[in-house]
Amino acid sequence: MAHQLLDTPAPQEVVTRDLLFDRDSDGTLAWTVRATTQSGLPVLALADSGEAPLGPSGPKVVCRHTTPKGLAHRWATRVVVGRADESSVRRHPDEVLAEWRRGSLLLDPASRHAISPDLVGGVEWVHGVRVLPLRTATLPPATHTNCLFVGERRALLVDPGSAEADEQLRLCEAIDRFVGRNGPLGAIFLTHHHADHVSGVPGLLRRFRLPVWAHPETASRVAFPVDRLIAPSATFEPLEGGPAGWEVAHTPGHAPGHLSLRRASDGAAVVGDMVASIGTILIDPSEGDVREYVTSLRSMAAQGIGVVHPAHGDPVFEGTERVLATAGHREWRETLVLAALRAGARSLAEVTAQAYAPNAVALGWLAARSTEAHLVALERAGVARRDEVGAWHPAAPGDPS
Ligand SMILES: [Zn+2]
Repeated sequence: MAHQLLDTPAPQEVVTRDLLFDRDSDGTLAWTVRATTQSGLPVLALADSGEAPLGPSGPKVVCRHTTPKGLAHRWATRVVVGRADESSVRRHPDEVLAEWRRGSLLLDPASRHAISPDLVGGVEWVHGVRVLPLRTATLPPATHTNCLFVGERRALLVDPGSAEADEQLRLCEAIDRFVGRNGPLGAIFLTHHHADHVSGVPGLLRRFRLPVWAHPETASRVAFPVDRLIAPSATFEPLEGGPAGWEVAHTPGHAPGHLSLRRASDGAAVVGDMVASIGTILIDPSEGDVREYVTSLRSMAAQGIGVVHPAHGDPVFEGTERVLATAGHREWRETLVLAALRAGARSLAEVTAQAYAPNAVALGWLAARSTEAHLVALERAGVARRDEVGAWHPAAPGDPS
């Protein structure tokens, strides 16, 4: 049975499968698949199915769990009690949950749902970070923005970005279930001001009395009041009044007021649009700064990131590696932009065509905006210059800026 966790099926494709476990008389459960992540963390995952014949006297379906739309890894899981084979992992559920909460074990969300029902209808790969993707008008191919419940008590509701009525309703129901179990939320926390991250806030404020927390650069760009301004340094520092153990850092570049969250104990991180696991991050030259973005990524990686939760797509287990890879990719692109300039490309279209070859046409305006962001960054660094008609040139030392 293959462990499919690290595969990347096409977004939205739903794989049906069964989680088959056995329950001993003392309540111990047996899982049929055990796998290990690259970081060595054991994962209790699921059996591929079809093997358990379901009939009146056969294994019994005890519950179902379907991962939400908006994630690349989608499973419609039947949780089945049946006869596990002898090679199964046998553990008591309380012990499994305790290990999962300590961060020494990963538990497939459907496995977790089977032993402790999911509250928000999303996925919770690491304890205390519940991911609920909501449909938003975002950058394709992404179709959803993850709204996250971070922490257990005084939890933060991060980036409720959907203003669509059905998605608001789904979120409100999730909040009601969460609050019913865990007590009131602490605040709405915004990673940054983009519409696909904040558009659900006004609707939520009509229904719930919740303070909004954001960086001053975000507060100045949104159309509703921000109750608490958060302006940390680039180094993660404790988030006073937030859920226990969580830290916050200023990570500008994609947006001037971008904030990221990290849990000190295990590095679990909620990073908004610093990385993406579906689609790409646009650095728009009108407000982004690609070198600042790379600096923020490198700073985050240097501090250590565990399971990283982007705003678009699935959590990524090897967080530091993903953050570094994202930074490295931008630096590589910058070298292509500079090489295009040095090879004689002058207009934005020419530089884009060379720096993004052979995909410039397919990527369209996105490639052009990204190229312009790189050119502006190179100009700020004194490596490129724009002449009076807007053509780009490599800058030699001593060139007028
Ligand atoms: Zn954004």
